[in-house]
Amino acid sequence: MRYTGLIEHYKDRLPVSDDTKIISLGEGNTPLIRLQNIPKELGKNVDIYIKYEGLNPTGSFKDRGMTLAVTKAVESGSKAIICASTGNTSASAAAYAARAGIKAFVLIPEGKIALGKLAQAMIHGAVIIQIKGNFDDGMRLVKEVAEHAPVSIVNSINPFRLQGQKTAAFEIIEELGYAPDYHCLPVGNAGNISAHWMGYTEYHKEGKANNTPKMLGYQALGSAPFVKGAMINNPETIATAIRIGHPQNWDLAHKAEKESGGWFDALTDEEILSAQKLLTEKEGIFCEPASATSLAGAMRDIKNGKIANDSKIVCTLTGHGLKDPDTAISQCTNQMININPVMIEVKDAILNNI
Ligand SMILES: *Cc1c(COP(=O)(O)O)cnc(C)c1O
Repeated sequence: MRYTGLIEHYKDRLPVSDDTKIISLGEGNTPLIRLQNIPKELGKNVDIYIKYEGLNPTGSFKDRGMTLAVTKAVESGSKAIICASTGNTSASAAAYAARAGIKAFVLIPEGKIALGKLAQAMIHGAVIIQIKGNFDDGMRLVKEVAEHAPVSIVNSINPFRLQGQKTAAFEIIEELGYAPDYHCLPVGNAGNISAHWMGYTEYHKEGKANNTPKMLGYQALGSAPFVKGAMINNPETIATAIRIGHPQNWDLAHKAEKESGGWFDALTDEEILSAQKLLTEKEGIFCEPASATSLAGAMRDIKNGKIANDSKIVCTLTGHGLKDPDTAISQCTNQMININPVMIEVKDAILNNI
């Protein structure tokens, strides 16, 4: 059967009716890839699966929530949506608003948004409002202005976002035939970890899975309010997608941690970037820096034994590597070989490097 997006696919589990006009770009149904080389290097007997959310239509998991948030905004008669964003929410909002024929307003932190995400928001025709401040400032402003202007907020404080995003857990259970022992996610506003927990518990209650995973939320050390146990005012990290000091889903995420028996932890920017590079070089999978936080955390906790031997682990890669070409290129030490257009010089380049 033709796949036409997650709302159509999971209609019975989402707040839509037969009359709802669905705004979709074919999101969801992303690959679950079993890592082949990295587990061997860790020297432990674990199965690690990557849920490659970077393959959603705009290159991040935000599309899962956005399809439903925009569908419901349009259903309620809204002519405009608004969000604060570290980048991917604005890219997704811009695309789905274009599809729906409504306006998108996006507040982004000046100078702190990856190039690919900015390109997306611009080309889809969003009204881009750059603020001299960070994501948390933008979020505060969006909440305030939504009380004074006719716009629907599509950040993860919008409950439809989490409803859409819970479908990732359904897909994993359906594909594996069981829920993993651990599910690792990068955490910013913590909407995604909360949504996954909703999805896992929903299927578990209905007997579609015998277990639920421990939910492991990994943050960047310079912006790790969940690890600190308190909000942070000046979050910093190279992983701009999770550069958030005042997470919007504080209680829901703690609920997921406690009920699942999971934990939060933090990784340095160096650990995050090295996991990103390892994935590209050893497995052929390219994700943006924030996404690699899940694998970086999993690898550390596999090595130190917090994640038990013989476990099945899913790591969500939240966004595509092409989102942030600058950070990718700046990490590479490959030498470019410059030659004249003659065969002998190409041959030398091969023989000197094989
Ligand atoms: C939004 C985002 C996150 C954080 O997700 P939350 O639901 O805010 O915790 C992580 N990685 C990427 C690439 C994102 O775009």
